[in-house]
Amino acid sequence: MKNTAPRLPELLLPWYRANARDLPWRKTTDPYPIWVSEIMLQQTRVAAVLGYYARFLEAFPTVEALAAAPEQQLMKLWEGLGYYSRARNLQKAAKAVAERGSFPDTYEGLIKLPGIGEYTAGAIASAAFGLRQPAVDGNVLRVLMRLTDCRADIADAKVKAAVREAVRAAMPEAERDIRIFNQALMELGATVCVPNGEPKCEICPLRENCLARSRGTAMTLPVKSGKKQRRKEEKTVYVLLQNGRVALRRRSDEGLLAGLWEFPNVPGELGEEDAPSALAEWGLEAKAWRKRLSAKHIFTHVEWHMTGYVLEVEGQGMEEFLWMDADALEGHAVPSAFGKFYAEARAALGKED
Ligand code: SF4
Repeated sequence: MKNTAPRLPELLLPWYRANARDLPWRKTTDPYPIWVSEIMLQQTRVAAVLGYYARFLEAFPTVEALAAAPEQQLMKLWEGLGYYSRARNLQKAAKAVAERGSFPDTYEGLIKLPGIGEYTAGAIASAAFGLRQPAVDGNVLRVLMRLTDCRADIADAKVKAAVREAVRAAMPEAERDIRIFNQALMELGATVCVPNGEPKCEICPLRENCLARSRGTAMTLPVKSGKKQRRKEEKTVYVLLQNGRVALRRRSDEGLLAGLWEFPNVPGELGEEDAPSALAEWGLEAKAWRKRLSAKHIFTHVEWHMTGYVLEVEGQGMEEFLWMDADALEGHAVPSAFGKFYAEARAALGKED
């Protein structure tokens, strides 16, 4: 794949300078906001990130402020973005940066920080420090495989490594160009050589050099093997109400949605006859069953299929249950997987949206 696109910067950079979307993290060379944007953009669309990014930097304008942030405030600001381990790793890394006094300014230093992998280290190293380091995400893989009409499997780590080297070899020399080169490749993939539907070859700055375009193979590329099937998990979720309060409990510090708040739930789909069994185990007694509802949430590797009950109960329940009024509920980060139940709880506590 080497030397397949020797004129890449010459074709790509003028196009980027004229056409790039005006995004706030592109107006700075400060590694802190660039890093925050890169972490937020993992698995999340640009449009969804913009508001979170602005609120986050307003609350934590410096890496030291993020390092010192209370966990609940951090989680609350992340609420709805999903993949909460990203927020925890951000803070872990912020603490490490605050401790050493400055951001590492090498690729090797960056990649040692929690939550920073090859891609993110390359993105920060190039955009903030002008280092010739590639940042290869799904957009870049797609563009390169099409440009070279290559049918190698992008799920293969060796193929990805080869693409990284091809991008490194194609990178420009001047620092001001290096800072935007990775961004430009990603922008082309996000807006022109798009993942869904026909690529917009007629407006592509690389069209004269693109083998997939001349051979008509773009729609069949890139090739990616064996996506794993998602595991399905059934759950029964309880919105337990008592004297104007609802019960929440904190999830374990390990695994999916670690440390966030949830409505008490048990594995399996319990019908109306079996649903009271969990209450007895928790030391609660049902007073009035208000509603049954269902919800589904899709994570990367697992799907939750949830049956939920909204009901009035009596008793204290488990020690781990925290009984919250509407204001307290709003102050706790409940992941969007429980969004439907959260809305029911708010409504039951007199806070209609
Ligand atoms: S010419 Fe078409 S297929 Fe080739 S890189 Fe541009 S948009 Fe993608």
